Amino acid sequence: MKILVINCGSSSLKYQVLEMSSDSSKVLAKGLVERIGSQNAGHTHKVGDNKYQFEKPIIDHTEAIKNVLNALIDPTMGVISSLFEIDAVGHRVAHGGDYFFKSVAVDDDVVAKIEKCCALAPLHNPANLLGIRAMAKLMPDTSQVAVFDTSFHQTMPDYAYMYALDYSFYEKYKIRRYGFHGTSHKFVAEKACKLLGMDINNSKIITCHLGNGSSITAIKNGKSIDTSMGFTPLEGVPMGTRCGNIDAGLVTFLMQNEGLDADGINSLLNKKSGLQGLSGFSSDCRDLVESMEQGNNRAALAIKKLAYDVKKYIGAYAAVMNGVDLIILTGGIGENSTPVRELICSGLDYLGVDFDFDKNTQSRGIDTLICKDGSKVKVMAVTTDEELVIATDTMNIVKNK
Ligand code: AMP
Repeated sequence: MKILVINCGSSSLKYQVLEMSSDSSKVLAKGLVERIGSQNAGHTHKVGDNKYQFEKPIIDHTEAIKNVLNALIDPTMGVISSLFEIDAVGHRVAHGGDYFFKSVAVDDDVVAKIEKCCALAPLHNPANLLGIRAMAKLMPDTSQVAVFDTSFHQTMPDYAYMYALDYSFYEKYKIRRYGFHGTSHKFVAEKACKLLGMDINNSKIITCHLGNGSSITAIKNGKSIDTSMGFTPLEGVPMGTRCGNIDAGLVTFLMQNEGLDADGINSLLNKKSGLQGLSGFSSDCRDLVESMEQGNNRAALAIKKLAYDVKKYIGAYAAVMNGVDLIILTGGIGENSTPVRELICSGLDYLGVDFDFDKNTQSRGIDTLICKDGSKVKVMAVTTDEELVIATDTMNIVKNK
């Protein structure tokens, strides 16, 4: 079964075509359309080691998708001979509010509910809908599936997802913790359990998805019971350019003292904070670790702050689960950055972690235990694959339809 996976941002579109069966998957092609809406939009299309790049005007998401479909059936760089070969399309959708506990086949009712969640994710959901509508126009007979970043976290209890605000705001605006990166947290927890022969239904796992955006999740018996991102993906640990947790009082302080309006403060907290804000020169973990090793104090501060806050979440989530069996590190930083992993995991011996410093430095970008053999609490680096989750959910839903 061939599945097209689409991940639409406000001005970008990432895609993959996967050949899927119940026990295997293969990426046939993948790519990215950037700067949608501009005269010099960029389209990168990759098939195996071959990379094709174009720059041209692309006015909207429908045209971006047309370009993608043309690339897929192109005699030179294509991977299918006709669009009829695509069995279904899976869309990443940022916010499913409290409507969606799992991935669903797209119909009018689903579209209306995703639309209702636009107020909760104004940067992402409208773009996701553009992708769904463009696809429906261009391939009306092909099934579409929506896979939500939030749905895995719908199992959180109310005392974990509620904020201590006037209850009426929950009723009026649906203000609560939703959490994000759900596909990744679920995927790495299930994958690690399979690899380690653990029963996920009888386990306490803390998953740390650390990339440009980062979140930590407490997973008890296979269900998310708490997660660090909240009403928006701004809460939690410091990220590339997002501040993570701060004193809410700072919002009004900065607005008053820096003369910022709502857009101004939003932009400051989302785009000029985090690793970028602390270091003053980069949001990228690789740059920061390199500068830290050359003695740059601000880079060191940014990295130490990230690791410290992740460690605090590990302690907190071990506390609420009454222990932990497995800590998973994933995302670009979790999978690759050995110094950050070391800072996070050293000094967790009180919890039962016997971290293996050598194994850690020797393993990057692979699924591997980075604790000593007898460690009571296992620590594992696990590679994530959100597109594969979307393709798998899409295949399963379409098969059962
Ligand atoms: P993601 O959003 O999951 O793609 O992760 C992006 C983050 O992962 C950036 O901060 C990168 O610096 C970091 N990253 C990616 N590859 C490596 C690597 N080989 N070593 C250290 N950090 C990396």
